[in-house]
Amino acid sequence: MPKIILTDKLNEKAVEVLEAAGFEVKIAWDIPKDELPKIIGEYDAIIVRSATKVRGDLFDEAVNLKVIGRAGVGLDNIDMETALARNIKVVNTPAATTNSVAELALTMILSSTRDIVKGTCEIKSDPSSFKALKKELFSREIDGKTLGLIGTGRIGTSLAVKCKALGMNAIGYDAYVAENPVVEMKPTMDDVLKEADYISLHLPLNKDTKHMIGKEAISKMKSTAVLINCARGGIVDEIAAHEALESGVLGYYCTDVFEIEPPSIDNPLLHHENIIISPHIGAQTAEGNMRASVQAAERVIDAFKELEDL
Ligand code: NAD
Repeated sequence: MPKIILTDKLNEKAVEVLEAAGFEVKIAWDIPKDELPKIIGEYDAIIVRSATKVRGDLFDEAVNLKVIGRAGVGLDNIDMETALARNIKVVNTPAATTNSVAELALTMILSSTRDIVKGTCEIKSDPSSFKALKKELFSREIDGKTLGLIGTGRIGTSLAVKCKALGMNAIGYDAYVAENPVVEMKPTMDDVLKEADYISLHLPLNKDTKHMIGKEAISKMKSTAVLINCARGGIVDEIAAHEALESGVLGYYCTDVFEIEPPSIDNPLLHHENIIISPHIGAQTAEGNMRASVQAAERVIDAFKELEDL
C-alpha cells in the first residue's frame, strides 16, 4: 500500500479519492517546514500546493519518493532538475483553475466598464457624492465590443466563450497557435492591440514576454482600451502602464498581479483612479480548489499505475 503525505490544505475529496485507490494517506496540513524532512523518508508520494517547497534537504531525505503531485499549475516550488535526475514523476493540474481565472478577467471587464470600484469607494467615504456619481458614472455596455486576447490557450479561450455569450466579439493573437474554434485569430499582436476594446493577457511570463506590454504596445491600443492582466506580473511594464493612464493613452488597467508582490506603496499604479486591483486571486475559488485537489489525487494515482506500483 503506497504511503502519501499531503502537506498543503487540499479539499477533503482528494483524501477520499486516494484512500479509495488504496493509498495510506497522512494529512499534514501546515506541517512546520523543519519537521517535514524528518518524516518524508517514510512516504512514496507527496501532494503540495504552492506553500511546500520540494527542494534541498527535503529531497535529500525523500529516499522513497516516487511521485510529487502539485495541486495547481506552476512548478516553481519544486526542484524539477533533481526530480528528473532522481526519476521522480511530477504531475500537476494545469486546467483545474482555468474557469476561476477566466471568471476573474470577466469580472474585471464588467467592473471597469461600469466603474463600480470607484462608485463603491467614493460613496463609502462620502455618501453625499451619490447623486454626482450617478451622472459621472454614465458608461457603456460590453455588448458589441471587441475582446482582444494575447494568448489563446485554456484561460484565453474560456474567457472568449463567456464574452461571446454576452454579445462581444473575440479576436486573438498567439505566438504558437494559429487557429482557435471560438476566437478570430490575427496574424500579429498589433492587429489585436489596434482593434480591441478590451485586451486581456493570458500567456506565461518568460524572457520573450517580459515587459511585452510596454510603451510601444500600449501606444497601438485605442485610448479608451481596458488592459487586463490576470496572467503574471512583469508581462506589463508597470511604469509604462501608469504613464499611459496619466496621459490618457490607456483607458483603464485591471490587474491581479504585480511585478513585485506585494506592490510597494510607491508603485504609482496604486494611486491612479482608473485601475482595479485584486491580490493574485485568479485561481482562488472553492470550485477551482476542489478540482485542483481531486485532479492532483487522480494524476498521482495514474502515475503509480504507470509505475505499476498500484
Ligand atoms: P496555456 O498554456 O493554456 O495558454 C497560454 C498561451 O499563451 C498558449 O497558447 C501559448 O501558445 C501562448 N503564448 C506563449 N507565449 C506567447 C507569446 N510570446 N505571445 C503570444 N502568445 C504566447 O495557459 P493558461 O492555462 O491559459 O494560463 C495562461 C497564464 O495564466 C499562465 O501562464 C499563468 O501565468 C497565468 N495564470 C494566472 C493565475 C492567477 O492566479 N492570476 C492562475 C493561473 C494561471
